[in-house]
Amino acid sequence: MIIDFHTHTFPENLAGRAIGKLAASSRARNYLAGTAGALRASMKEAGVDFSVLLPVVTRPRQQEDINRAAIETNQYSRETGLISFGGIHPENEDYREILHFLSENGVKGIKIHPVFQRAAIDDIRYLRLIECASENDMIVITHGGYDIGFPGEDFSSVRRIERMLDTVKPRKLVLAHMGGWDCWEEVEERILGRDVWLDTAFSLLPIEPAPGTARTPQENPPLSREQFLRMVRCHGADRILFGTDSPWSGQRQMVAAIRDSGLDAKEQEAVLGGNAAGLLGIDGHKDCRKAQSRPI
Ligand SMILES: [Zn+2]
Repeated sequence: MIIDFHTHTFPENLAGRAIGKLAASSRARNYLAGTAGALRASMKEAGVDFSVLLPVVTRPRQQEDINRAAIETNQYSRETGLISFGGIHPENEDYREILHFLSENGVKGIKIHPVFQRAAIDDIRYLRLIECASENDMIVITHGGYDIGFPGEDFSSVRRIERMLDTVKPRKLVLAHMGGWDCWEEVEERILGRDVWLDTAFSLLPIEPAPGTARTPQENPPLSREQFLRMVRCHGADRILFGTDSPWSGQRQMVAAIRDSGLDAKEQEAVLGGNAAGLLGIDGHKDCRKAQSRPI
């Protein structure tokens, strides 16, 4: 089974504008149009069974609409292969009610993004939110490291992540982008071996420049195969989750990159889907009858 733990889609009426804005600020090419339909076509092509959608709440009041849509998406996960996490903003004062509501409605986890949400990951508002999500047995996935669209901003720096981990000890925490985008040396020094999962999004493949923008491959080079392998094995292949950041990289290309990374067959199986299935509580295949009778 292949599970892409890190994808993004937008509602049909917003996708064009949202993708255009993000492509302009990141100067990275989008592989897909950003809709659920485009992602499902990509999954079919790449052999991906499930994709986890990670909505980012950039303004506190958006959470209601985003979370309503997430719950709706999850009603059809078995048919569509799309599993949506919820979103929450550090300024949502009623975070306890929101997290409880999401958990009660079967939402497996929440996405937070310190750079887009303009608060540091070791800020008390995130700490209390992460703690509360843990109490509700929810997965928390946070952006890690720099963000391609906001050069140099340290809201989710490796040091801040380390401080957060020392303070709250979350039970199911996923750090995107192999722990910290574009700060992988520091991740090796400070994060590997800690009780967290790392996703592979936007780490192993070079960034494709958006048409008409001047981005060079030297600007933000990807992880070398050698460093990727070293990181996976040092941290433990059982704590690495396949993720693409689709539409910002290609699912087919990223599956091929993992297959070609030098990991052995067992490690590949774990990274591509086994670990995520365990974390999400999915057993068997999506068309198996036993699995259909229980919520994922
Ligand atoms: Zn992302």
